[in-house]
Amino acid sequence: MKIIDGKAWAAVLRAELREKIEKHEKKPGLAVVIVGEDPASRIYVRNKIKACEELGVRSYAYELPAQTTQADLEKLLDELAQNTQVDGILLQLPLPKHLDSEAASTHIPFEKDVDGFSAKNLGLLLQHKEQAVACTPLGVMKLLEKEGIDPCGKHAVILGRSETVGKPMAMLLLNANATVTICHSKTQNLAEICKQDDILVAAIGKPKFVTKNMVKDGAVVIDVGMNRDENGKLCGDVDFENVKDVASHITPVPGGVGPMTITMLMYNTCLAAYKE
Ligand code: NAP
Repeated sequence: MKIIDGKAWAAVLRAELREKIEKHEKKPGLAVVIVGEDPASRIYVRNKIKACEELGVRSYAYELPAQTTQADLEKLLDELAQNTQVDGILLQLPLPKHLDSEAASTHIPFEKDVDGFSAKNLGLLLQHKEQAVACTPLGVMKLLEKEGIDPCGKHAVILGRSETVGKPMAMLLLNANATVTICHSKTQNLAEICKQDDILVAAIGKPKFVTKNMVKDGAVVIDVGMNRDENGKLCGDVDFENVKDVASHITPVPGGVGPMTITMLMYNTCLAAYKE
């Protein structure tokens, strides 16, 4: 069994990106917009700004008060859309309840959609003409690539069908010629389906949900989940201690998929800035 070191791969990819940025006179610019005081979102934003600083990406943080109106948020996004210093715009989710994130997101032009959540970027992924792809599933693909795991012909089982993780993950694996099964909360015989996996990606948000009896011997297990266990300790959707004995490769939490997500945001920002 091999533990996939996401932190180490993220460092390798960031070094590659830093080198690329150094070669260009123009530095990419990323605008990060956050509304309200959600502590987890504040930490994510801080980490994104830190990653920008490390790589030489210009970052612009817009911290709006919780009572910001839809019109004011959209006005800011429209200004950023016009701003030639800004290559990528990231709207930190979730927004306060009175705001409509879907409507707001339509004010981010697809060329600056570094999250890959826009209808156009999702459509391009569906057509296997990927441009900016959602950062977490893209990070999973990079991990597989770096570990020399080719999904072609393999049976990939995805747990979760969110717009941000499960669905784009399934499409990326399908585009890489895997045979893909998507499971969700209404799936019957879940354990039986999981057991047919060559690659299992868990993205459901349930601590230690995936146990040894759900994983085929020698499967590659990728854990996207970020949860707290009964003692408040960070853990994934996979019962790591139990599953590691049957998996050929497994990602830990923390230190697996997580570090790749922000790295892929930097990757998408470079893509937006340099179109390469
Ligand atoms: P989400 O939007 O809540 O979606 C959860 C998905 O899991 C849904 O499709 C749901 O099915 C399915 N599900 C829930 N319970 C299930 C069960 N018992 N059996 C089978 N499927 C079940 O979550 P998300 O945003 O995709 O995130 C998933 C996890 O990944 C979370 O822990 C989140 O914190 C983590 N995450 C990590 C990163 C990272 O950078 N590492 C990034 C994003 C997310 P239905 O559609 O039927 O409801």
